[in-house]
Amino acid sequence: MTPEITTPTPETRDVVILGSGCAGLTAAIYAARSNLKPLVLEGHEPGGQLSITTLVENFPGWPDGIQGPELIENMKLQAQRFGAELRMAHLSAADLTAHPIKLTVGKDIIHTRTVIIASGASARWLNLPSEQALIGNGVSSCATCDGFFARGKEIAVIGGGDSAMEEALFLTRFATKVTLINRTDRFRASPIMLERAKAHPSIRFMTSTIVEEVLGVEEKDVKGLRIKNTVSGEVSILPVSFMFLGIGHIPNAQAFKGMMDLDEDGYILASDDVHCTLNGQVLPGVFCAGDIKDRKYRQAITAAGSGCMAALEVEKYLEAHGR
Ligand code: NDP
Repeated sequence: MTPEITTPTPETRDVVILGSGCAGLTAAIYAARSNLKPLVLEGHEPGGQLSITTLVENFPGWPDGIQGPELIENMKLQAQRFGAELRMAHLSAADLTAHPIKLTVGKDIIHTRTVIIASGASARWLNLPSEQALIGNGVSSCATCDGFFARGKEIAVIGGGDSAMEEALFLTRFATKVTLINRTDRFRASPIMLERAKAHPSIRFMTSTIVEEVLGVEEKDVKGLRIKNTVSGEVSILPVSFMFLGIGHIPNAQAFKGMMDLDEDGYILASDDVHCTLNGQVLPGVFCAGDIKDRKYRQAITAAGSGCMAALEVEKYLEAHGR
Protein backbone atom coordinates (compact mmCIF):
# COMPACT_ATOMS: atom_id res chain seq x y z
CA MET A 1 0.00 0.00 0.00
CA THR A 2 1.48 3.41 -0.97
CA PRO A 3 1.46 5.78 1.97
CA GLU A 4 -0.83 8.71 1.30
CA ILE A 5 0.92 11.98 2.02
CA THR A 6 -1.51 14.50 3.42
CA THR A 7 -0.65 17.81 4.97
CA PRO A 8 -1.88 17.83 8.56
CA THR A 9 -4.82 20.20 8.87
CA PRO A 10 -5.97 21.98 12.02
CA GLU A 11 -8.60 19.20 12.24
CA THR A 12 -5.92 16.57 12.49
CA ARG A 13 -6.27 14.92 15.85
CA ASP A 14 -3.39 13.97 18.07
CA VAL A 15 -4.88 10.62 19.05
CA VAL A 16 -7.92 8.52 18.27
CA ILE A 17 -8.66 5.53 20.48
CA LEU A 18 -10.59 2.61 19.04
CA GLY A 19 -12.55 0.83 21.75
CA SER A 20 -14.10 1.84 25.06
CA GLY A 21 -13.29 -1.05 27.37
CA CYS A 22 -10.78 -0.86 30.21
CA ALA A 23 -7.80 -0.44 27.89
CA GLY A 24 -9.32 2.24 25.67
CA LEU A 25 -10.76 4.28 28.53
CA THR A 26 -7.56 4.16 30.57
CA ALA A 27 -5.64 5.30 27.49
CA ALA A 28 -8.24 8.09 27.16
CA ILE A 29 -7.76 9.21 30.77
CA TYR A 30 -3.99 9.42 30.34
CA ALA A 31 -4.13 11.05 26.90
CA ALA A 32 -6.75 13.56 28.08
CA ARG A 33 -4.66 14.46 31.11
CA SER A 34 -1.79 15.14 28.69
CA ASN A 35 -4.08 17.61 26.94
CA LEU A 36 -4.22 15.51 23.77
CA LYS A 37 -8.04 15.75 23.55
CA PRO A 38 -8.45 12.11 22.56
CA LEU A 39 -11.40 10.97 20.50
CA VAL A 40 -12.70 7.58 21.61
CA LEU A 41 -14.72 5.60 19.09
CA GLU A 42 -16.73 3.35 21.37
CA GLY A 43 -16.97 0.48 18.90
CA HIS A 44 -19.38 -2.41 18.46
CA GLU A 45 -19.41 -3.37 22.15
CA PRO A 46 -19.31 -0.08 24.09
CA GLY A 47 -17.68 -0.66 27.45
CA GLY A 48 -16.16 -3.94 26.30
CA GLN A 49 -16.37 -7.17 28.26
CA LEU A 50 -16.83 -5.45 31.63
CA SER A 51 -20.13 -4.07 30.47
CA ILE A 52 -21.54 -7.61 30.43
CA THR A 53 -20.00 -8.64 33.76
CA THR A 54 -21.76 -8.33 37.08
CA LEU A 55 -19.67 -7.83 40.23
CA VAL A 56 -15.95 -7.14 39.69
CA GLU A 57 -14.10 -8.01 42.87
CA ASN A 58 -10.50 -8.03 41.71
CA PHE A 59 -10.08 -4.47 40.47
CA PRO A 60 -7.86 -2.76 43.05
CA GLY A 61 -9.48 0.07 44.94
CA TRP A 62 -12.92 -1.47 45.36
CA PRO A 63 -12.79 -3.52 48.56
CA ASP A 64 -16.46 -4.48 48.26
CA GLY A 65 -16.32 -4.96 44.49
CA ILE A 66 -18.03 -2.86 41.87
CA GLN A 67 -20.49 -3.74 39.11
CA GLY A 68 -18.71 -4.01 35.74
CA PRO A 69 -20.98 -1.46 33.97
CA GLU A 70 -20.51 1.00 36.85
CA LEU A 71 -16.74 0.65 36.70
CA ILE A 72 -16.85 1.39 32.98
CA GLU A 73 -19.19 4.34 33.48
CA ASN A 74 -16.79 5.77 36.09
CA MET A 75 -13.88 5.42 33.68
CA LYS A 76 -15.86 7.22 30.98
CA LEU A 77 -16.71 10.09 33.33
CA GLN A 78 -13.08 10.27 34.42
CA ALA A 79 -11.88 10.47 30.81
CA GLN A 80 -14.53 13.06 29.87
CA ARG A 81 -13.67 15.18 32.90
CA PHE A 82 -10.22 15.73 31.42
CA GLY A 83 -11.48 16.45 27.92
CA ALA A 84 -11.83 13.10 26.14
CA GLU A 85 -14.54 13.01 23.50
CA LEU A 86 -16.53 9.78 23.32
CA ARG A 87 -18.42 8.93 20.16
CA MET A 88 -20.84 6.04 19.65
CA ALA A 89 -19.29 4.96 16.37
CA HIS A 90 -17.05 2.33 14.92
CA LEU A 91 -14.37 2.19 12.30
CA SER A 92 -15.42 1.42 8.72
CA ALA A 93 -11.96 1.58 7.11
CA ALA A 94 -8.44 2.74 7.88
CA ASP A 95 -5.24 3.73 6.13
CA LEU A 96 -2.65 3.22 8.82
CA THR A 97 0.32 3.97 6.58
CA ALA A 98 -0.95 7.41 5.57
CA HIS A 99 0.50 10.45 7.34
CA PRO A 100 -1.56 11.58 9.06
CA ILE A 101 -3.36 8.31 9.60
CA LYS A 102 -6.76 8.23 7.89
CA LEU A 103 -9.76 6.65 9.60
CA THR A 104 -13.16 6.31 7.96
CA VAL A 105 -16.12 6.33 10.32
CA GLY A 106 -19.36 6.06 8.40
CA LYS A 107 -19.34 9.07 6.08
CA ASP A 108 -16.67 10.90 8.05
CA ILE A 109 -12.94 10.88 7.47
CA ILE A 110 -10.83 11.50 10.54
CA HIS A 111 -7.16 12.42 10.29
CA THR A 112 -4.99 11.66 13.26
CA ARG A 113 -1.29 11.61 14.10
CA THR A 114 -1.66 8.51 16.24
CA VAL A 115 -4.17 5.78 16.90
CA ILE A 116 -4.49 3.34 19.80
CA ILE A 117 -6.26 0.15 18.83
CA ALA A 118 -8.02 -1.20 21.89
CA SER A 119 -10.95 -3.05 20.38
CA GLY A 120 -10.56 -6.00 22.72
CA ALA A 121 -11.50 -9.61 22.27
CA SER A 122 -14.89 -11.17 22.54
CA ALA A 123 -15.51 -14.40 24.37
CA ARG A 124 -16.75 -17.17 22.16
CA TRP A 125 -20.23 -18.32 23.19
CA LEU A 126 -22.32 -21.33 22.30
CA ASN A 127 -24.90 -18.83 21.02
CA LEU A 128 -27.89 -20.63 22.48
CA PRO A 129 -30.74 -18.19 23.25
CA SER A 130 -31.00 -19.57 26.81
CA GLU A 131 -27.25 -19.10 27.35
CA GLN A 132 -27.37 -15.52 26.10
CA ALA A 133 -30.36 -14.76 28.34
CA LEU A 134 -28.50 -15.96 31.43
CA ILE A 135 -25.15 -14.21 30.95
CA GLY A 136 -24.35 -12.62 34.31
CA ASN A 137 -26.89 -14.84 36.08
CA GLY A 138 -25.05 -18.13 36.25
CA VAL A 139 -23.49 -18.08 32.79
CA SER A 140 -20.02 -16.61 32.53
CA SER A 141 -16.99 -16.65 30.28
CA CYS A 142 -14.58 -15.50 32.97
CA ALA A 143 -13.71 -17.83 35.83
CA THR A 144 -11.34 -15.32 37.40
CA CYS A 145 -14.12 -12.72 37.50
CA ASP A 146 -17.06 -14.86 38.54
CA GLY A 147 -15.57 -17.97 40.18
CA PHE A 148 -16.30 -16.64 43.63
CA PHE A 149 -20.05 -16.77 42.90
CA ALA A 150 -19.74 -20.50 42.25
CA ARG A 151 -18.76 -21.28 45.81
CA GLY A 152 -20.53 -24.25 47.28
CA LYS A 153 -22.18 -25.06 43.94
CA GLU A 154 -22.01 -27.79 41.33
CA ILE A 155 -20.94 -26.24 38.08
CA ALA A 156 -20.07 -27.04 34.48
CA VAL A 157 -17.15 -25.83 32.37
CA ILE A 158 -17.46 -26.08 28.60
CA GLY A 159 -14.43 -26.64 26.36
CA GLY A 160 -11.46 -28.87 25.80
CA GLY A 161 -8.54 -26.46 25.47
CA ASP A 162 -6.12 -24.94 27.96
CA SER A 163 -8.63 -22.23 28.92
CA ALA A 164 -11.22 -24.81 29.93
CA MET A 165 -8.65 -26.83 31.92
CA GLU A 166 -7.38 -23.72 33.64
CA GLU A 167 -10.90 -22.55 34.45
CA ALA A 168 -11.94 -25.99 35.73
CA LEU A 169 -8.87 -26.22 37.99
CA PHE A 170 -9.33 -22.67 39.25
CA LEU A 171 -13.03 -23.24 39.94
CA THR A 172 -12.34 -26.27 42.16
CA ARG A 173 -11.39 -23.67 44.79
CA PHE A 174 -15.03 -22.61 44.98
CA ALA A 175 -17.30 -25.25 43.49
CA THR A 176 -18.10 -28.54 45.18
CA LYS A 177 -18.00 -30.38 41.87
CA VAL A 178 -16.89 -29.35 38.37
CA THR A 179 -18.12 -31.17 35.28
CA LEU A 180 -15.99 -30.47 32.25
CA ILE A 181 -17.95 -30.91 29.03
CA ASN A 182 -16.09 -31.34 25.75
CA ARG A 183 -17.94 -31.67 22.47
CA THR A 184 -15.61 -34.39 21.17
CA ASP A 185 -13.34 -36.97 22.78
CA ARG A 186 -10.26 -35.08 21.56
CA PHE A 187 -8.68 -32.32 23.58
CA ARG A 188 -6.79 -29.26 22.41
CA ALA A 189 -5.35 -28.73 25.87
CA SER A 190 -1.67 -29.31 26.47
CA PRO A 191 -1.01 -32.76 27.97
CA ILE A 192 0.19 -31.34 31.27
CA MET A 193 -2.95 -29.22 31.80
CA LEU A 194 -5.19 -32.07 30.70
CA GLU A 195 -3.50 -34.52 33.09
CA ARG A 196 -3.70 -32.04 35.95
CA ALA A 197 -7.43 -31.56 35.40
CA LYS A 198 -8.04 -35.30 34.98
CA ALA A 199 -6.18 -36.05 38.19
CA HIS A 200 -8.23 -33.59 40.24
CA PRO A 201 -10.76 -35.39 42.47
CA SER A 202 -13.41 -32.65 42.09
CA ILE A 203 -13.37 -32.61 38.27
CA ARG A 204 -15.21 -35.14 36.19
CA PHE A 205 -15.03 -35.30 32.42
CA MET A 206 -17.89 -35.67 29.97
CA THR A 207 -16.74 -36.11 26.41
CA SER A 208 -18.66 -36.19 23.12
CA THR A 209 -21.29 -34.09 24.82
CA ILE A 210 -22.97 -30.89 23.73
CA VAL A 211 -25.14 -28.45 25.62
CA GLU A 212 -28.54 -28.10 23.99
CA GLU A 213 -30.11 -25.68 26.44
CA VAL A 214 -29.40 -23.85 29.66
CA LEU A 215 -32.35 -24.27 32.02
CA GLY A 216 -33.60 -21.47 34.27
CA VAL A 217 -34.38 -18.59 31.91
CA GLU A 218 -37.73 -17.91 33.64
CA GLU A 219 -36.14 -18.05 37.09
CA LYS A 220 -33.27 -15.83 35.86
CA ASP A 221 -30.84 -18.31 37.39
CA VAL A 222 -29.17 -21.41 35.98
CA LYS A 223 -31.04 -24.52 37.09
CA GLY A 224 -29.27 -27.11 34.95
CA LEU A 225 -28.15 -28.02 31.45
CA ARG A 226 -29.89 -30.15 28.88
CA ILE A 227 -27.04 -32.11 27.36
CA LYS A 228 -26.74 -34.64 24.57
CA ASN A 229 -24.21 -37.39 24.05
CA THR A 230 -23.31 -37.12 20.37
CA VAL A 231 -22.33 -40.80 20.13
CA SER A 232 -25.32 -42.48 21.82
CA GLY A 233 -27.79 -39.66 21.12
CA GLU A 234 -28.88 -39.81 24.77
CA VAL A 235 -30.34 -36.57 26.15
CA SER A 236 -30.17 -35.87 29.88
CA ILE A 237 -30.30 -33.08 32.44
CA LEU A 238 -27.14 -32.10 34.29
CA PRO A 239 -28.14 -30.41 37.56
CA VAL A 240 -25.62 -27.57 37.82
CA SER A 241 -26.14 -24.00 38.94
CA PHE A 242 -23.35 -22.30 36.99
CA MET A 243 -21.96 -22.69 33.50
CA PHE A 244 -18.54 -21.32 32.53
CA LEU A 245 -17.52 -21.09 28.90
CA GLY A 246 -13.90 -21.86 28.14
CA ILE A 247 -14.17 -22.19 24.39
CA GLY A 248 -11.80 -19.43 23.41
CA HIS A 249 -11.87 -15.75 22.54
CA ILE A 250 -12.02 -13.94 19.22
CA PRO A 251 -9.77 -10.87 19.03
CA ASN A 252 -11.57 -7.97 17.36
CA ALA A 253 -8.76 -7.39 14.88
CA GLN A 254 -10.36 -8.83 11.75
CA ALA A 255 -10.66 -5.30 10.30
CA PHE A 256 -6.87 -4.93 10.42
CA LYS A 257 -6.00 -8.12 8.58
CA GLY A 258 -3.37 -7.30 5.96
CA MET A 259 -2.68 -3.89 7.56
CA MET A 260 -0.57 -5.18 10.44
CA ASP A 261 1.03 -8.34 11.77
CA LEU A 262 -1.43 -10.65 13.49
CA ASP A 263 -0.71 -14.06 14.97
CA GLU A 264 -2.32 -17.25 13.69
CA ASP A 265 -5.40 -16.68 15.87
CA GLY A 266 -5.80 -13.05 14.83
CA TYR A 267 -4.31 -11.31 17.88
CA ILE A 268 -2.15 -8.25 17.14
CA LEU A 269 1.54 -9.11 17.33
CA ALA A 270 2.76 -6.10 19.25
CA SER A 271 6.37 -5.06 19.33
CA ASP A 272 7.49 -3.92 22.81
CA ASP A 273 3.93 -4.63 23.92
CA VAL A 274 2.48 -1.46 22.38
CA HIS A 275 3.63 -0.94 18.78
CA CYS A 276 1.76 -2.42 15.84
CA THR A 277 3.99 -3.70 13.06
CA LEU A 278 3.70 -4.63 9.41
CA ASN A 279 6.11 -7.27 8.14
CA GLY A 280 8.07 -6.80 11.37
CA GLN A 281 8.47 -3.03 10.88
CA VAL A 282 6.90 -0.68 13.41
CA LEU A 283 3.93 1.22 11.94
CA PRO A 284 4.62 4.84 12.95
CA GLY A 285 1.91 6.25 15.20
CA VAL A 286 -0.05 3.00 15.45
CA PHE A 287 -0.31 1.59 18.97
CA CYS A 288 -2.37 -1.14 20.59
CA ALA A 289 -3.57 -2.01 24.05
CA GLY A 290 -5.60 -4.57 25.93
CA ASP A 291 -7.06 -7.92 25.00
CA ILE A 292 -6.66 -7.39 21.27
CA LYS A 293 -2.97 -8.13 21.74
CA ASP A 294 -3.12 -10.18 24.94
CA ARG A 295 -4.15 -13.81 24.76
CA LYS A 296 -2.61 -14.64 28.09
CA TYR A 297 -3.78 -12.44 30.98
CA ARG A 298 -7.05 -10.88 29.73
CA GLN A 299 -7.82 -9.12 33.02
CA ALA A 300 -9.43 -5.72 33.49
CA ILE A 301 -6.40 -4.50 35.38
CA THR A 302 -3.85 -5.72 32.81
CA ALA A 303 -5.94 -4.17 30.02
CA ALA A 304 -6.08 -0.90 31.95
CA GLY A 305 -2.32 -1.05 32.52
CA SER A 306 -1.62 -1.58 28.85
CA GLY A 307 -3.95 1.31 27.94
CA CYS A 308 -1.85 3.51 30.19
CA MET A 309 1.36 2.27 28.52
CA ALA A 310 0.00 2.98 25.04
CA ALA A 311 -1.05 6.52 25.98
CA LEU A 312 2.38 7.25 27.46
CA GLU A 313 4.01 5.96 24.26
CA VAL A 314 1.69 8.17 22.18
CA GLU A 315 2.79 11.16 24.24
CA LYS A 316 6.46 10.29 23.69
CA TYR A 317 5.88 9.74 19.97
CA LEU A 318 4.13 13.10 19.53
CA GLU A 319 6.83 14.87 21.49
CA ALA A 320 9.50 13.28 19.30
CA HIS A 321 7.56 14.51 16.26
CA GLY A 322 7.49 18.08 17.41
CA ARG A 323 4.09 18.29 19.13
P1 NDP B 1 -8.62 -23.38 22.04
O1 NDP B 1 -8.95 -22.89 20.68
O2 NDP B 1 -7.30 -24.01 22.28
O3 NDP B 1 -9.72 -24.43 22.51
C1 NDP B 1 -11.07 -24.14 22.36
C2 NDP B 1 -11.87 -25.33 22.87
O4 NDP B 1 -13.24 -24.97 22.85
C3 NDP B 1 -11.71 -26.56 22.01
O5 NDP B 1 -11.80 -27.69 22.82
C4 NDP B 1 -12.92 -26.47 21.07
O6 NDP B 1 -13.41 -27.72 20.65
C5 NDP B 1 -13.94 -25.89 22.03
N1 NDP B 1 -14.98 -25.19 21.31
C6 NDP B 1 -14.85 -24.17 20.41
N2 NDP B 1 -16.06 -23.76 19.99
C7 NDP B 1 -16.97 -24.56 20.63
C8 NDP B 1 -18.38 -24.64 20.61
N3 NDP B 1 -19.11 -23.82 19.87
N4 NDP B 1 -18.99 -25.57 21.38
C9 NDP B 1 -18.26 -26.40 22.16
N5 NDP B 1 -16.93 -26.38 22.23
C10 NDP B 1 -16.28 -25.46 21.47
O7 NDP B 1 -8.87 -22.08 22.99
P2 NDP B 1 -8.30 -21.79 24.45
O8 NDP B 1 -8.92 -20.51 24.87
O9 NDP B 1 -8.44 -22.94 25.32
O10 NDP B 1 -6.75 -21.53 24.20
C11 NDP B 1 -6.33 -20.50 23.29
C12 NDP B 1 -4.81 -20.41 23.35
O11 NDP B 1 -4.40 -19.85 24.61
C13 NDP B 1 -4.12 -21.77 23.22
O12 NDP B 1 -2.95 -21.58 22.50
C14 NDP B 1 -3.80 -22.14 24.65
O13 NDP B 1 -2.69 -23.00 24.75
C15 NDP B 1 -3.51 -20.76 25.27
N6 NDP B 1 -3.80 -20.80 26.71
C16 NDP B 1 -2.78 -21.12 27.56
C17 NDP B 1 -2.99 -21.19 28.90
C18 NDP B 1 -1.85 -21.55 29.78
O14 NDP B 1 -0.81 -21.89 29.27
N7 NDP B 1 -2.00 -21.49 31.07
C19 NDP B 1 -4.30 -20.92 29.50
C20 NDP B 1 -5.31 -20.61 28.51
C21 NDP B 1 -5.06 -20.56 27.18
P3 NDP B 1 -12.85 -28.43 19.29
O15 NDP B 1 -11.50 -28.94 19.66
O16 NDP B 1 -13.87 -29.49 19.04
O17 NDP B 1 -12.81 -27.36 18.25
